[in-house]
Amino acid sequence: RPGLMAGKRGLIMGVANDRSIAWGIAQQLAAHGAELAFTYVGEALQKRVQPLAESVGSDLVLPCDVGEDASLDAAFDELGKRWGALDFVVHAIGYTDKAALDGRYCDTSRDVFKLTMDISCFSFTAVAQRAARLMKDGSGLLTLSYYGAERVMPNYNVMGVAKAALEASVRYLAVDLGRDGIRVNAISAGPIKTLAASGISDFRYILKWNELNAPLKRNVSQQDVGGAALYLLSDLGAGVTGEVLHVDSGYHVVGMTAQDAAAG
Ligand code: NAD
Repeated sequence: RPGLMAGKRGLIMGVANDRSIAWGIAQQLAAHGAELAFTYVGEALQKRVQPLAESVGSDLVLPCDVGEDASLDAAFDELGKRWGALDFVVHAIGYTDKAALDGRYCDTSRDVFKLTMDISCFSFTAVAQRAARLMKDGSGLLTLSYYGAERVMPNYNVMGVAKAALEASVRYLAVDLGRDGIRVNAISAGPIKTLAASGISDFRYILKWNELNAPLKRNVSQQDVGGAALYLLSDLGAGVTGEVLHVDSGYHVVGMTAQDAAAG
């Protein structure tokens, strides 16, 4: 296939349905010539991911629970057998207990803290360890973060703490893997209505707030995030690593919006 991603093969982790950010990214990468593999967790999601994968010409759909080392090993072993090498991985995975996405961060339990850190932060490092063995100079890893890593957002709570650690791990991984020419970046996406986001209490209010207060006066789409992912994972982004790129209609630069502007 011709395009910016021609000749590149990569793994997309985190498609749950056609609203997933991972799916927006997958569509852009496929449209620009990438060959894709997908992972899913649980049989119910397999039924959703399989037809989406087929629609972009992929027949490599593997189970992978990032909370289990054996499951990660099996998925990357299979990829190694099928492809031999890997040019990129998109990690668009996050998880916490739904009850933690309401009320105060202060009330987080040890168990929920550990689970959230494991699935939403450490899993990217666990993926990087396995992916790097299949990667060569010019390959890239990408994960998804949110502004709640930098500033306090209502109800984001322990996920914000995990995203802060995820962004720090992007920087450490960028240094460790940079000597092999592997780039490691994150996209900090503005709020998008997905399955994961619907678990956040008052998410509709966050969406509206972002729309009214962001410089572009709109929310971002899956396609917006996909375009930025294409830049970071293609050779256009060859000089970029350790970066957290905001794709949020500019929301993160605003200190306060003028009253008339906020009113629309
Ligand atoms: P989504 O629900 O479509 O995707 C989340 C994915 O995580 C699902 O595919 C789910 O199967 C997967 N997952 C959860 N636990 C897993 C496990 N143990 N093993 C493997 N996969 C597991 O929602 P989304 O909004 O597309 O989320 C993708 C990423 O984008 C997440 O990291 C999220 O925090 C981040 N993000 C989302 C927004 C937003 O507003 N939607 C904004 C910024 C960042």
